[in-house]
Amino acid sequence: MNEAAAGRVQPVGTRHRAAAFALVWCLQVACDDKERQSQDAQHWVDANASEGSATHADESDAGASAEPVRVQVFSRTQGYRHESIAAGLAMFETFDQQEDLSVQSTEDPVRLVERLSETDVVVFLSTTGDVLDAVQEDALESFIRAGGGFVGVHAAADTEYDWPFYGELLGARFTSHPDIQPARVIVEAPRHPATSFLPAVWERTDEWYNFDRNPRDRVEVLLSLDETSYAGGTHGADHPIAWCQTVGQGRSFFTALGHTSESWSDSAFQQHIEQAVRWAAQRLAREQNAANASDVPARD
Ligand SMILES: [Zn+2]
Repeated sequence: MNEAAAGRVQPVGTRHRAAAFALVWCLQVACDDKERQSQDAQHWVDANASEGSATHADESDAGASAEPVRVQVFSRTQGYRHESIAAGLAMFETFDQQEDLSVQSTEDPVRLVERLSETDVVVFLSTTGDVLDAVQEDALESFIRAGGGFVGVHAAADTEYDWPFYGELLGARFTSHPDIQPARVIVEAPRHPATSFLPAVWERTDEWYNFDRNPRDRVEVLLSLDETSYAGGTHGADHPIAWCQTVGQGRSFFTALGHTSESWSDSAFQQHIEQAVRWAAQRLAREQNAANASDVPARD
């Protein structure tokens, strides 16, 4: 039994009146409550807000959930360039064919920033090195803090070492990796949309990152590695490998998975990324808020 998984994701949703939604949505609700309490990235699983679930998401009009989630994929590399970026971009193109997702991609930071006003989620797809200048960094930080979503994939943790906010947004930075090999991935958050469909132990092959810190004190860990199942891990018994958090009013998700091109044609990995994007867009929270709103008498 994983104590962390049992303790973190279950109890927080029960206070909400929409009991039918509580189990499914508890993770989002916990997140939303915490957003109201804090402007900074921090642990939100122990949120104990006693009020209803009104959030900034409520402020959007009732039709908001019918609009597609607008995603910008950014894959600029100033250091190592992963061959798998092409496979990742191809997969995001398939997302664009879904009615409720709208995907654009760019490696131009000027375009990225120009489009932020019409973006719900920014994806850093195996970016490396210094990819944004100071003005662009400020624009992305403002976007996140105001409620924008961020999804970092794999080498996103090998990016922007000199930008302190980015370290907060990611939760930890890449330091090293052993050779590509199979490992056992433990699902710690079986109710989070990005991991709920996975087996309790997900066996897969990837390049397994080590980090400069264990981010567990500031994020909700979704996946961790069983270091006894492969060679070259440096975190011992607690090796987070995918996690999420709130930053300001925004949501940030990071997964270190996705080095190999094969990952991007694996349906479980595809779903991991797709649901991460939807979670970061706060679409699920908006839908729940809409459902809650329909339970109470109209104000007029
Ligand atoms: Zn890699």
